[in-house]
Amino acid sequence: MKTIKQMNLENKKTLIRCDFNVPMKDGKIIDDTRITAAIPTIKYAIDNNAKVILFSHLGRIKEASDLEKNNLAPVAKRLEELLGQPVTFIEKTRGEELESAIKHMKSKDIILVQNTRYEDLDGKKESKNDKDLGAYWASLGDIFVNDAFGTIHRAHASNVGIASHLQSCIGFLIEKELNALKELDNPKHPFIVVLGGAKVSDKIGVIENLVKKADKILIGGGMAFTFLKSEGYEIGNSLLDEENIDFCKKIIKEYPEKIILPIDVAVTTEYSEKEEYKTKDITELEYNEMGLDIGPRTEELFKSYLKDAKIAVWNGPLGVYEFEKYKQGTNHILQFVTENNIKIILGGGDIVAAASTAGYKDKVYHASTGGGATLEYLEGKPLPGLEAIK
Ligand code: AMP
Repeated sequence: MKTIKQMNLENKKTLIRCDFNVPMKDGKIIDDTRITAAIPTIKYAIDNNAKVILFSHLGRIKEASDLEKNNLAPVAKRLEELLGQPVTFIEKTRGEELESAIKHMKSKDIILVQNTRYEDLDGKKESKNDKDLGAYWASLGDIFVNDAFGTIHRAHASNVGIASHLQSCIGFLIEKELNALKELDNPKHPFIVVLGGAKVSDKIGVIENLVKKADKILIGGGMAFTFLKSEGYEIGNSLLDEENIDFCKKIIKEYPEKIILPIDVAVTTEYSEKEEYKTKDITELEYNEMGLDIGPRTEELFKSYLKDAKIAVWNGPLGVYEFEKYKQGTNHILQFVTENNIKIILGGGDIVAAASTAGYKDKVYHASTGGGATLEYLEGKPLPGLEAIK
């Protein structure tokens, strides 16, 4: 698979699919991490005298009222500040104005095209990878660079569609993500997997794929309770994924040495922060109690495996990290892995958000920018956005 460094960009109309899907409030960008992450590829294209045409989606467009709040205009402004040069924003995703602006570009010029999902208003053309739309966008350029890791697991017109018609490659952000994730293909051992989050159902593919390679899978978060239930423990009102009790039972039976479950948990009687919590052994839960975090003995147990890890990957928080009281388990393990320089990859989504708020994100070996994309990679599934480039 080609990377941007292998392409001749000189004077070429270079279409770059970025991920500018940033959180917005009242028309303002709340967090510009995704924009800054795209800068190295854009700068490289400019330095190599390309004519740069940027595409991205922003939020979801289901009805006309979604258009204004998902307008990419504020991103163009932020890009101008970060790049120190003008960015021409085209308010439409197709048509005369866009075509003429591209026609008159000089090398090093930059255009940002309106939110690709504006096309979803008319029969989900972007999200359903409408053939004509992909071909149309491709007709605007000479080269396609995909640098939007967050959508690589989806076949959309702005990634798979364009790539089907043009010489294509990946940008630096996708390259960096893949280089980190590739270390898990044939991992060094001990290879430790940490899983948390709400539902077992979301993680079945990951467990099935990684359990063969991993030395241990440390399970916390809400999903641990379905595993505990399958072992016959009383879990009270803790989160239960009833349909997957049999799956949990089967995995534990097949890999009894590999699956490590909590031995103590922080319990309370209400899903809120109002009540005081108690730390209890997992054998002591009452019918009206629920576990919202792992306990200190479980933290020590998890650390005892992580300390020797040659590589580790972590998906999903170990407790209800949105509540101050129940973010401790997640934070203590984050603190441990960063202080001890354990080579760990955070698999996007909630665990990266948790690491970011607690100040650990920049200290870990790799924090992935794509939740769904990383999860599908960990499931061993082919990623359509990459396949189209290969
Ligand atoms: P996921 O998207 O699967 O990674 O799940 C993340 C969500 O899991 C977060 O919103 C957490 O609040 C939730 N979660 C983690 N641990 C628990 C728990 N013990 N009980 C209920 N929800 C939990």
